[in-house]
Amino acid sequence: MGIDYQQDSTTLRTDVLIVGSGPIGAIYARKLVEAGYKVLMVDAGAQESEIPGEHKKNIADVSLNDFSSIIQNDLTPLSSTMPAASATLAIGGMSTHWTCVTPIPHPTLEAPKLFTQSKWNSLISEAQDLLHTTSTTFDTSTRQDNLKNFLNASGHSFKSTPLACQKSENGEIIYSSTSSILSPILSSKNFTLLPNHLCPKIYKQDQKITSASLTSLSTNTHFSVVAEQYILAAGAVLTPQIIYNSNMSQTLPALGRYLTERMVTFCQIKLDKKFSGNAGEVNIMEGVSEGKKWVTVINREAHQYGQLPEDLDCGDVLDVRCMSAVEPDVENRVEFGEKGSDGMPMPSFKVSPSNADLKVAAKMMLEMQSLATSLGSFVTEPKIMPLGTALHLSGTTRAGESVETSVVDSNSKVWGVDNLYLGGCGVIAEGMACQPTLTAVGYALQGVEGVKAALSA
Ligand SMILES: Cc1cc2nc3c(=O)[nH]c(=O)nc-3n(C[C@H](O)[C@H](O)[C@H](O)COP(=O)(O)OP(=O)(O)OC[C@H]3O[C@@H](n4cnc5c(N)ncnc54)[C@H](O)[C@@H]3O)c2cc1C
Repeated sequence: MGIDYQQDSTTLRTDVLIVGSGPIGAIYARKLVEAGYKVLMVDAGAQESEIPGEHKKNIADVSLNDFSSIIQNDLTPLSSTMPAASATLAIGGMSTHWTCVTPIPHPTLEAPKLFTQSKWNSLISEAQDLLHTTSTTFDTSTRQDNLKNFLNASGHSFKSTPLACQKSENGEIIYSSTSSILSPILSSKNFTLLPNHLCPKIYKQDQKITSASLTSLSTNTHFSVVAEQYILAAGAVLTPQIIYNSNMSQTLPALGRYLTERMVTFCQIKLDKKFSGNAGEVNIMEGVSEGKKWVTVINREAHQYGQLPEDLDCGDVLDVRCMSAVEPDVENRVEFGEKGSDGMPMPSFKVSPSNADLKVAAKMMLEMQSLATSLGSFVTEPKIMPLGTALHLSGTTRAGESVETSVVDSNSKVWGVDNLYLGGCGVIAEGMACQPTLTAVGYALQGVEGVKAALSA
């Protein structure tokens, strides 16, 4: 047990409390339990798989259309002010249905500026190991090779998409998620995971968090948790929500601000006959480069959108999806207001991309159309998706060098609080185009170093 617990007690004691069991909370838990500390991890969501936090693709053998419906059902919209922005409230968070695309951010255009290049390289390399990132998943696919060669002959630089997954002995793909991250510590006596437990608030005295409150959503009972160190990894919107609800926002002017969300363009194509003779899956991507601030992924994947008509022969259909970086702007923000039915202050978004961001998105749309038509004909017309569709909100608890423009330092420790660390895409300070989770894991691994140093001091 990662807690000292007496049946009649309303106070749980542990070395580290982690709020949120998504992949980032899981990374913190894994590293701290492996270092010998007691960890209590709580999540407001239910445990939906026998092994906590399994990727649902590993357990449900369903079509992509059906998996899209699973994702739609799992997503809880956060606010009518950005209807597409959502959270997944479950053990495992969004890693129960994410698409596992885990690219390394471009070293000069996207990577965090807070770390030296060699430090960042070592953090990201460990992050890749922990998520089992590989670019070889579809190496035997001749269709993937042919598409790459065809596109790269006209000046592109498409590569096999790095995916967080492993192959089983019989060749099945096992997608990484909270369950694969936690698997080495799941049976540890130092680790406790409580589903259906909401952490509404933490309490601060002087420079320290002294306790956190916890509500069991199954029994509506209330607990207090006393820990040495506290880690909030509840997602880019619900982490600042807890801090706001704990009356700590006055001393953290950057909380909720500098919010970035990628703009997304999307279409689906039926591949031209010249490619349709080749067999195999396709999952290729092109990253950002000077003058091109977007990433392009060509594959066939389940998202909360993009279902195809049941009677369509989908064998030759591919998704073409681009995501552009937007520049961090202090005015783009999530704010919190009146309390909702869960007793937490409700988020509302004030976000508008700048003219420069919109110009990049317009260029991205043109390039996506030209790429798509070079490969086949449209099944789904190209469109710009509503803001929030990427589900990659970042920056709301950004890391930086001062409390005026950031919420945490380079160890992801909250400014002015000795024992409070944050994790997740919220800490990412840069406006990145590429998928953010691997980068958030890199930040978390540095955060682990800070927590360990504090625990041993
Ligand atoms: C369909 C889909 C596809 C995606 N594909 C990719 C991809 O290919 N590549 C990529 O990089 N990213 C992708 N993402 C995003 C990725 O899943 C997230 O970046 C990642 O899961 C964030 O991890 P996290 O641990 O910070 O937060 P989350 O996974 O959001 O987990 C946060 C957890 O905190 C819990 N929580 C919230 N508030 C409280 C509270 N007050 N008390 C207790 N618990 C609380 C929630 O229940 C949740 O379980 C995708 C997301 C979706 C939905």
